Amino acid sequence: MTREQFILQQQKRNEFSIKRTVVVLGSILVFCSVPIGVAYVVSKDTTPERSRRLLGIGLIVYIIAVYFGLLVSVRRNLNTYSILCPGCGKRILGFTGQIAIATGNCGYCGVKVFDESETST
Ligand SMILES: [Zn+2]
Repeated sequence: MTREQFILQQQKRNEFSIKRTVVVLGSILVFCSVPIGVAYVVSKDTTPERSRRLLGIGLIVYIIAVYFGLLVSVRRNLNTYSILCPGCGKRILGFTGQIAIATGNCGYCGVKVFDESETST
């Protein structure tokens, strides 16, 4: 991979991170608004204890869904948008990716990580 290809990959990673943040914030908004709306509509038919129990179950389901969603998202992020150092085998991503872009070398071991023979202009 060349330095230019890695820079494009990191830009796509940043766009992906922004989309993920929007999805998480949107889900928080949905989680907060839907149960309140449902509780408002059915409040005449249910007891406060039952409403609290339903909200508690909803909160647990939401936390589990967000946990696994973020787990899958982070794993995908690591597998798609990082490269492995040919010297030490560690992932080059985030801060170490910035070091690699600036210097062309691994931020952990200093080995050259980009294929400079394909560099165009
Ligand atoms: Zn390294």
